[in-house]
Amino acid sequence: MDLIADIQSKLDALDAHSLTRRRRSADTPCAPRQVVDGRALLAFCSNDYLGLAAHPRVVAALREGADLYGAGSGASHLVSGHSRAHALLEERLAAFAAPHLERARALYFCTGYMANLAVLGALGADADTMIFSEALNHASLIDGARLARAGVTVYPHGDAGALAAQLAASSARVKIVVTDSVFSMDGDLAPLPDLLALCERHGAWLVVDDAHGFGVLGKHGRGALEHFNLRSPNLVYVGTLGKAAGVGGAFVAAHEAVVELLVQRARPYIYTTAAPPALAHALLASLDIIEGDEGQERRAHLERLTAQFKEALRVQRWQRPPSPTAIQPIVIGANDEALRVAARLHEQGLWVPAIRPPTVAAGTARLRVTLSAAHTHDDVAQLAAALNHLERS
Ligand SMILES: *Cc1c(COP(=O)(O)O)cnc(C)c1O
Repeated sequence: MDLIADIQSKLDALDAHSLTRRRRSADTPCAPRQVVDGRALLAFCSNDYLGLAAHPRVVAALREGADLYGAGSGASHLVSGHSRAHALLEERLAAFAAPHLERARALYFCTGYMANLAVLGALGADADTMIFSEALNHASLIDGARLARAGVTVYPHGDAGALAAQLAASSARVKIVVTDSVFSMDGDLAPLPDLLALCERHGAWLVVDDAHGFGVLGKHGRGALEHFNLRSPNLVYVGTLGKAAGVGGAFVAAHEAVVELLVQRARPYIYTTAAPPALAHALLASLDIIEGDEGQERRAHLERLTAQFKEALRVQRWQRPPSPTAIQPIVIGANDEALRVAARLHEQGLWVPAIRPPTVAAGTARLRVTLSAAHTHDDVAQLAAALNHLERS
């Protein structure tokens, strides 16, 4: 067998289905106005919901963190890579999550992907455990459930009734319900109050992946748990820090026993080099902004931009799943058509990503518009006008 020809046939098959993905190289920081491959664009792609990725105070804190702690951590957390900056960040994050948990402790991870692998791998380590996974969960939760020794059952999107029936029918010793809080490609919210009530009734864990809620939802930006005003010892919270927090990494907040189990047993925590301490130091500045008046102002501005976009967008043929968040999908359907529309926008200097399978279901390729507090009302008006015009052409 010709090994390269075998690979090439796989790549050709992707191309034939308009599924080849291409990267663009940004020459400037993540912001609405970027220079990308040498070209000025107005971007609606990032998950930098509060505009903190290039915020001067966060960038200055990153620089200061490098001066204080150097460039790299040098080792995993359990060997010698755990720095004062990591410890301070974990204390701040635990305090942040404390109103919603019992005996809260937080653990910082290099990425949200790894945090999800860690939580499901550690809580779902035994064969007498069952993971109940929401149908539209993020790939990292799907992979975490695959790595766990526990069984996996998928429940339909947003369907607490179906989950109730599955929980009642299960004889697993330990039950874990896991869901995104804000669905990353649709922008809608999971019915967390209903899910938590079910979990408490059945003595199950509720693992909430708040990648798109942390920093954005709730009066103080504490995320989906604050938004829904939830508090329970059954909650295991995953927040990511590369989206609204603008830096990178993630954290798990839960009862201190859960976090201690992760420290002792979670392989994606133990067997990897600790993230550079400067990132943790920069995140302290992000948290100051998120919790403070500036964070509230940024969230209010983002809400106004979201309302403006929904009002101004007049498309009929393309579908618009009702999303209350800054994730505003426009479902076009066919892969090549979604790519064609994204290319037309790009010609006009607008950068909106076309999202295709397997990230979304076949036949639901879409433009994923994301808004940021760094956008202006003029930016949003320009995008809505361009989309309205393109649908008719
Ligand atoms: C982005 C994302 C992750 C992964 O987080 P990273 O820090 O980017 O690895 C996990 N879950 C959801 C829902 C996400 O959108």
